[in-house]
Amino acid sequence: GKGAKGSQFCVIGLGRFGSSLGKELVHLGHEVLGIDRNEELVDDMSGTLTHTACADSTDEEALRALGIRNFDCCIVAIGGDIQASIMTAILAKDAGVKQVVVKAVSELHGRVLEKLGADRVIYPERDMGIRVAHQLVSPNLLDY
Ligand code: ATP
Repeated sequence: GKGAKGSQFCVIGLGRFGSSLGKELVHLGHEVLGIDRNEELVDDMSGTLTHTACADSTDEEALRALGIRNFDCCIVAIGGDIQASIMTAILAKDAGVKQVVVKAVSELHGRVLEKLGADRVIYPERDMGIRVAHQLVSPNLLDY
């Protein structure tokens, strides 16, 4: 079930955010397929994640070959290339992935992602800035 041990996650984009997220999911006992078009990053993560693949996530056939539709949750962690982020998100959604979570780098990027049907849009930098501000003015607020 949702959040239970043994869920299958697919993390697309193994930059700072995606690699950290994937690593933590494995640490929590889940299976993670990590995908990136950068072979070096894929090699770096091959010993950490359950499976890794070097592929362009805007290539529908490549995603199909990786069995993207079988994953419970797909996290699109591509920031710099907004076009690739949007295309990957819609391909994951159209493939039938139940929960598609997408990282947005701006409010407008996030609005596009919500319109195309992303199940959850996350703003890591914005949210971490808010969190740190709260921690700075209230050091006992560890869980914010
Ligand atoms: P972070 O802040 O997490 O380091 P970022 O927001 O700077 O990442 P990018 O570095 O642009 O975002 O993208 C993250 C990763 O996504 C990169 O490793 C990049 O190679 C990968 N990526 C970008 N486009 C594609 C694509 N079309 N297919 C597969 N991987 C991609």
